[in-house]
Parts: sequence; structure tokens; C-alpha cells
Amino acid sequence: RNAAAIAKGMSITLGEAFKPTEVENYPDGKGPMRGAQFQERFRGKHQLQRDENGLEKCVACFLCAAACPSNCIYIEAADNTTDHRISSAERYAKVYNIDYNRCIFCGYCVEACPTDAITHGHGFELASLNATTMVMRKEDLLVQIPVGLPKSNQEKAEVLA
Ligand code: SF4
Ligand code: SF4
Repeated sequence: RNAAAIAKGMSITLGEAFKPTEVENYPDGKGPMRGAQFQERFRGKHQLQRDENGLEKCVACFLCAAACPSNCIYIEAADNTTDHRISSAERYAKVYNIDYNRCIFCGYCVEACPTDAITHGHGFELASLNATTMVMRKEDLLVQIPVGLPKSNQEKAEVLA
């Protein structure tokens, strides 16, 4: 029985030994993961979402920062005004930073958010030799305003009136 198992193992080894070698030139070339389909639950670089009017969903409640076990979310809140409306609530996040030197991709921030403002995207190429580039700002995380939605603050305020 052992001899049969060894023979089977060796046949697989020999079969693989004569197959052509495949070398991935990643990250310089197209890697196996580029363009790959990720599972919906994959936790990559975060995204800050917008609502159906193009306004930012984040209302600067700080619950994500409170839930973060790595203490890597930094938020500064500001008030919305009629002339300067960023979110549909009283406040918005003027500054929203995530320090990816510390983030462990646990997803607690996503679970804690009451407005579904923060989600995980599928971006995973975050490694860097420069630690300062690992701190992502709101501008790096915020999704684009969808085409066809109001862009000026006045238009946004009218939509909400
Ligand atoms: Fe913090 Fe976890 Fe969210 Fe990263 S995924 S920012 S560690 S709560
Ligand atoms: Fe609150 Fe969500 Fe904004 Fe975090 S991302 S401050 S939990 S609304």
C-alpha cells in the first residue's frame, strides 16, 4: 500500500517536472491578481460612499474611529451650511484619514457606520517603502460623483430642500 502511494506521488512529481514553467513578473508585469474577480466580502482599501444625490454619506459621527482597534482613523468634523453642503446631515467629515501603516482590515469601522458611508473596496496594492504615503486622505478614499448628478453645492442644497 505504501509503495502504491509513493508511486502515485512520484508520478505527479515527474508529471509536473516536465511541464513548462510559468513565471509571473509581478509587480512589474501583469500579475495573476490584476483584473481578477474578488469575492464580494474581500476587504481591500476603504471607500467613502456618496448617496443618490451625490452628497457624501459620512456625517462625521466618529463611530468608525471609536470602533477601530488600531486607532488609525482620524476625522475632523465641520458643519454643513446652505451655501456649502457636503453631506445631507448637520455635519460632514472635513478631514478623514486612514493610516494603512496600522489598519488590520478587520472591518469593524464598516460594521459600526450607521450610514454605510465607509465600505471596503477591492484595492490591495497598498505596500510602500515610504510610510507617509500609507496615510490615505478623504480625497484618496471618496468615490467620484456619478455622471448626471448635481455637482455644485447650490444644486445639492436644492435637491434636499
Ligand atoms: Fe480600523 Fe479595522 Fe477599519 Fe482598519 S478595518 S480602519 S483597523 S476598524
Ligand atoms: Fe460616522 Fe460612518 Fe462617517 Fe465613520 S464613516 S464618521 S461611522 S458616518
